[in-house]
Amino acid sequence: MQVKRVFQNMAPYTPGKQIEEVKKEYGLSKIVKLASNENPFGYSEQVKQAIPNMLDHLEIYPDGYATQLRAALASKLGVGEKQLIFGCGSDEVVDIICRTYLENGTNTIMATPTFPQYKHNALIQGADIVEVPLVNGYHDLPNMLKAINKDTRVIWLCSPNNPTGTLINKEELVSFLNKCPSDTMVVLDEAYFEYIEQRKNPNSISLLETYNNLVILRTFSKAYGLANLRVGYGIASEEIATYLNITRGPFNTTSVSQLSALTALHDTEFLQKTHSRNLENKKAFMTACDNMNLEYYESEANFLFVKLPTTGDELFEYLLTKGFIVRSGEALGHPNGVRITIGSKEQMLELETNIKEFLAFNKGV
Ligand code: PMP
Repeated sequence: MQVKRVFQNMAPYTPGKQIEEVKKEYGLSKIVKLASNENPFGYSEQVKQAIPNMLDHLEIYPDGYATQLRAALASKLGVGEKQLIFGCGSDEVVDIICRTYLENGTNTIMATPTFPQYKHNALIQGADIVEVPLVNGYHDLPNMLKAINKDTRVIWLCSPNNPTGTLINKEELVSFLNKCPSDTMVVLDEAYFEYIEQRKNPNSISLLETYNNLVILRTFSKAYGLANLRVGYGIASEEIATYLNITRGPFNTTSVSQLSALTALHDTEFLQKTHSRNLENKKAFMTACDNMNLEYYESEANFLFVKLPTTGDELFEYLLTKGFIVRSGEALGHPNGVRITIGSKEQMLELETNIKEFLAFNKGV
């Protein structure tokens, strides 16, 4: 069978190592997974309590429009209900954007390294990919603007950027949007929005009123801790959201996921705790890195990209033997580093001890 030609150079997504796999391979009983930027504090107790009540009618299709969640979220964000699109994770919203706006003869601009799904989905739609290297871990916005031509349909800004964690501040964002042609879509992926320090909050939602070409992506997978239930969303002009909703599968989020997201939305205390604990543990880990003479990118997310005197793979392999799964930079386009999700205080202290041992061992070799 003839598959699309582009598949000759593509492979399925390689996820971070799975807990059970590592346990078995290394004969370990305890594993700490700090590889996929999940929430080390779990998820809202209110969601846990509500889930059993959501299981009564699994034989019925869900409300594809996610009416209740849509109303609550629109009201919380101060946008119209028709400005929202829900996806099976924001992953799916990325795919939906590509399917709606990209095709042969168009191009799309993104940073490198950044979240790989923009490129992956755009390639499948036959678009040309323009990658603009980060500068010191930050988006190179002037060069991204220079890369725009008449065939550019979508520009991806990941802020905080995965894997570097760097933030595009509000002034830079506004200046970028002012210079960007109004018929070129700008997707601002804010998967880690809830982790941004309050004083640095770019208040991106308020920009939607001025910039009709802006699409903002957020998710319940990260700070809300519901990665397994797969709910992400996009916020855009009514016109864009309508097109995206045409592309969307009719029942792409389940009732359990919608109601869990709705419950999580109301538990502001859990979110606040996640935010402050992450900040505290991240700052402590940054100090630890300073003491180990390890550089890192300034991160506004729940992970830190640490630069190493060795390859990322070497530290990754070493930490596996100690029961820690981190993400080697090798697979993320940055071989001399690792991306580490910020875990609990205890997890981070144990990790620090292991990294120290690794560094001491490597110095001695
Ligand atoms: N965007 C970014 C920047 C991410 O890091 C991730 C998750 N790794 C996603 C989107 C997708 O998250 P989800 O599909 O779970 O909403």
